[in-house]
Amino acid sequence: MSLERINVTRSSMPSYEEYCEEIKDLWESRWLSNAGIKHKTFEAQLQEYLGVPYLTLFANGHVGLEVAIDAFKLEGEVITTPYTHCSTTHSIVRNGLTPVFCDVNDKDYTIDAAQIEKYITDKTCAIVATHVYGGVCDVKAIDEIAKKYNLKVIYDAAHAFGVTVDGKGVAAYGDASMFSCHATKVFHTIEGGITAFKDKDILDKTNKLINFGFIGPEEVAYVSTNARMNEYEAAMGICNLRHIDSEIARRKAAYDRYVQRLSGVPGIKLIAPQEGVKHNYSYFPVFFDGYKYDRDQVQALLAEGNIFARKYFYPLTSELACYKEQYGASVANTPVAKKAAECVLTLPMYADLTVEDVDRICDIILK
Ligand SMILES: *Cc1c(COP(=O)(O)O)cnc(C)c1O
Repeated sequence: MSLERINVTRSSMPSYEEYCEEIKDLWESRWLSNAGIKHKTFEAQLQEYLGVPYLTLFANGHVGLEVAIDAFKLEGEVITTPYTHCSTTHSIVRNGLTPVFCDVNDKDYTIDAAQIEKYITDKTCAIVATHVYGGVCDVKAIDEIAKKYNLKVIYDAAHAFGVTVDGKGVAAYGDASMFSCHATKVFHTIEGGITAFKDKDILDKTNKLINFGFIGPEEVAYVSTNARMNEYEAAMGICNLRHIDSEIARRKAAYDRYVQRLSGVPGIKLIAPQEGVKHNYSYFPVFFDGYKYDRDQVQALLAEGNIFARKYFYPLTSELACYKEQYGASVANTPVAKKAAECVLTLPMYADLTVEDVDRICDIILK
């Protein structure tokens, strides 16, 4: 097969010269980690870009979620969904909390807010929900439920960097929102994560938790971890942030071409745009339900054409080997998530993906 390989994602990069220019100071300062100049600059730029006053930078998105949950000092049950990255469920369980799996809705595959209340017990302490594919959860309904039952709301916003709702950054909703800055995401710092907080006290606590629990040079108050972002990662973030709007615009061109080619085809379901939401075109999920090929057949046909699509999210986290025994029975409560996991294929999606590439992919699917 001589056609060029197309992977599901490809990292956006600044020019080599731009990155080298950005990291030059580090040779002079010899300050490579622990809230150096790049870290501080990047943090200030992100507060502005994301429209949030309080945020912490992390070594990766997962610890951004796990440590943020720790900062709330929660106990008991957390309502969440199994249609997500295993990171979401791990961050709950690794904090000693019990995940209670609620189904997703069949429009955007985020948590079905109408079903949350039936899972609330006197042990429920929080809702941890994922903004799936950059589509936004029903944040207003979730806020109301949280207020009524006095629950914390923490979003896995790993897919949602740059997304806005009614003109406001998505992190304006909930008590905390984690954005992953992994190399494969819309916006990246090589490895990295950003968690935005509503409350300054939780921010301050988190900033101690990312640094082993140190509260002074000789005093450690919390049993914690090292979850800090380093200066080279922050420098990559500074460079990538300069180009994020044009990168998202380039993604939109590929996204629009997919929609043009694949919408209205019987047996192929796409996610409709959400009202009031400015999307980041982070993924292009397609659901094959009653199409002439099933999902696995489409994946195999694409692979023959040197195109590698992925199944995000499959399997459900409640069906992973590490959770199946304890939580596998909950799958009966999450039929929409189960069906989605069986039908979904996320097609290649990145800023460099051309309209010709999209046509090459769609030609195979529609053949
Ligand atoms: C990528 C991802 C994570 C983990 O982020 P890392 O930066 O890779 O640690 C968590 N949740 C979701 C939904 C993700 O897609």
